[in-house]
Amino acid sequence: MKLKILVDNQAMSNFRAEWGFSCLVEAKENVLFDTGTSADVLAFNAEKFGIKPEQISKVVLSHDHFDHTGGLEWVLQNPKVKVFVLDSFSDETKQSIEKKAELIEVSKPVEISRSVFSTGKLSNSIDEQGLVLEVKEGVIVLVGCSHPGLEKILKKARKYGRIHAVIGGFHDFNKFDALEKVKIIAGTHCTEHKTEIQKLFPKAFTECSAGTEFEF
Ligand SMILES: [Zn+2]
Ligand SMILES: [Zn+2]
Repeated sequence: MKLKILVDNQAMSNFRAEWGFSCLVEAKENVLFDTGTSADVLAFNAEKFGIKPEQISKVVLSHDHFDHTGGLEWVLQNPKVKVFVLDSFSDETKQSIEKKAELIEVSKPVEISRSVFSTGKLSNSIDEQGLVLEVKEGVIVLVGCSHPGLEKILKKARKYGRIHAVIGGFHDFNKFDALEKVKIIAGTHCTEHKTEIQKLFPKAFTECSAGTEFEF
């Protein structure tokens, strides 16, 4: 399974940076997790990887914030795409998807594709879902901003197996014990305590930006 970071606050040379997050999961099908802030940057960076909207079967949106839903238009150029949102997303977001593609509302944990699962809705002030990927090394967890608390998302993900890697935005996260034994920690996007995480887990901490690829 390959993961390609399409949008992040930071970017490798040749890629564009913007405030937001998007990661392509190349499993049995291509599943896009979040879409960044703009269709422009998503399209630019996807093209650098040689990815076209027609190659994407499914989209999962972690939560209803512009820096995760803003690039949707790019992938909605593919009318066959299925878009998974939480049932609590705004009518406005739901309608903009329904006009162009199939909308699937999620609340409970659900299989999105083979070896690709949604954690289901985790609630706090902002509802969010994470993605759990089954690989031979264990479980990979993809997160958008982790508004409900990264530790809560990880707790849900642990039901699927030992956590090998966690990648995405760790907003407000400071319950660092939850990262114990995780082999790859790629806190990016809105992660506030990057330096502390890097200090505590120097081996596991992995830099990640638009253009980064992971293979499991
Ligand atoms: Zn957010
Ligand atoms: Zn965000």
